[in-house]
Amino acid sequence: MQQQELLYEGKSKLIFKSDKEDRIIIQFKDDATAFYNIKRARIENKGKMNCDISSMLLGYLNENGVSTHFVEKIDENKQLCRVVEHIPIEVIVRNVIAGSMAKRLGIEEGVVPENTIFDICLRGEELGDPLVNDHHAVALGIATYEELAKIYEISAKVNLLLSELFTKAGITLVDFKIEFGRTESGELILADELTPDTCRLWDMATGERMDKDRFRRDLGRVRETYEEVACRIHNALNK
Ligand code: UDP
Repeated sequence: MQQQELLYEGKSKLIFKSDKEDRIIIQFKDDATAFYNIKRARIENKGKMNCDISSMLLGYLNENGVSTHFVEKIDENKQLCRVVEHIPIEVIVRNVIAGSMAKRLGIEEGVVPENTIFDICLRGEELGDPLVNDHHAVALGIATYEELAKIYEISAKVNLLLSELFTKAGITLVDFKIEFGRTESGELILADELTPDTCRLWDMATGERMDKDRFRRDLGRVRETYEEVACRIHNALNK
């Protein structure tokens, strides 16, 4: 597989064309950003760790009946992925109240809700990824009601599979963000990454944060924590 020109540079990833029309190459960077780019840093090894973690998690989902864009890891910080038409919404799945939901509704972080909560947000930093509902998404032509129903169904399955895996790793999956794409045949599949940048992960034994909140909230040991997450997922997959 040959890497060709750069198609897009994001905050944490570079996307390259490949010599196959239906494949792209994603390179994970060491850059960390938060609060819409206001806080920035370079964290040595983060690209490699996130590539490793995302490859393990997306590979696990592929093997367990959830189609994702991930094809294979081709280098320490690069993945070969399927080309999809990106759907511009972020789906956030919450098992424990934290982050923006705690703030918005005045609920203490750590409260476990009666049911799993699914939020959808429009992708777009200019507007600050606003929370929307299904009717907004349909009215804006982003997805049909049928597609949204499928998106929630897949998101619930992803939550079950990941929660099971993280439990084996001694980690509570507090919340996470996923994105979807349409393949040429119209199939909805998971696209983008699954990493400690896009999930909240709390150590089951100590409650310690094992995700991007270490960076957002200046808790230190970011690199070591991401390495620990990679190691624990690796062990959990081999249990
Ligand atoms: N998240 C993400 N990208 C975003 C917004 C949120 O990956 O643009 C993830 C975030 O890391 C967390 C979950 O989605 O695991 C829920 O985030 P929340 O809505 O609480 O927002 P935050 O507190 O991160 O601002």
